[in-house]
Amino acid sequence: MRLVLVGPPGAGKGTQAQYIASNLSIPKISTGDIFRANVSGGTDLGKLAKTYMDRGDLVPDEVTIAMVRDRLSEDDAQDGFLLDGFPRNVAQAEILRDMLKDWGQALDLVLELVVDDDEVVRRLAGRRTCSQCGRIWHVEFDDKKDDKCDACGGALFQRDDDKEETVRHRLEVYQEQTAPLVSYYADEDILVGVDATGPVEEVTQRAMDAIRPFMG
Ligand SMILES: [Zn+2]
Repeated sequence: MRLVLVGPPGAGKGTQAQYIASNLSIPKISTGDIFRANVSGGTDLGKLAKTYMDRGDLVPDEVTIAMVRDRLSEDDAQDGFLLDGFPRNVAQAEILRDMLKDWGQALDLVLELVVDDDEVVRRLAGRRTCSQCGRIWHVEFDDKKDDKCDACGGALFQRDDDKEETVRHRLEVYQEQTAPLVSYYADEDILVGVDATGPVEEVTQRAMDAIRPFMG
């Protein structure tokens, strides 16, 4: 099973990626992990990527693509993989398609985690971080009424990333980048949307039900 997982910030993509990959016994390949592995392993690509990151610049597409190619060539990815964070745009999707084609492979499925914007705002903007132990509480889901950490008594604060206006902006950026990618995969007839609201286990269950018909 070769699949790509897409979803907005706050959709629980990292968690679902882990559960789905483990259910399918395939490696979860995230661009974040690939970057870290290349940088800490001191590979040529890692050193190159680091020169950009140290300057605060975006790592160019070619470098990301080369890292993804290396990772997908490894033994454990030959019978399937779950990609998280790649491709980010249609140009990358086309490169991925050609790369797989060269190896006699193709994507089986693109799974889109669907959560509406207000739900994402509710999830993220309700988060409060402990200034002492770093633990995260949620005003609604943890029924947090005061601004003290129940674990250590530290003061809670709202991270800039979790402020409603920042969350809404991140969602806009996501929509702009991802909408063309989603329609590209819809045209290829391999896109399936999964309702990502509700408990984590239920979302995983829905995802597995959506994947099953695509398994060879
Ligand atoms: Zn704390």
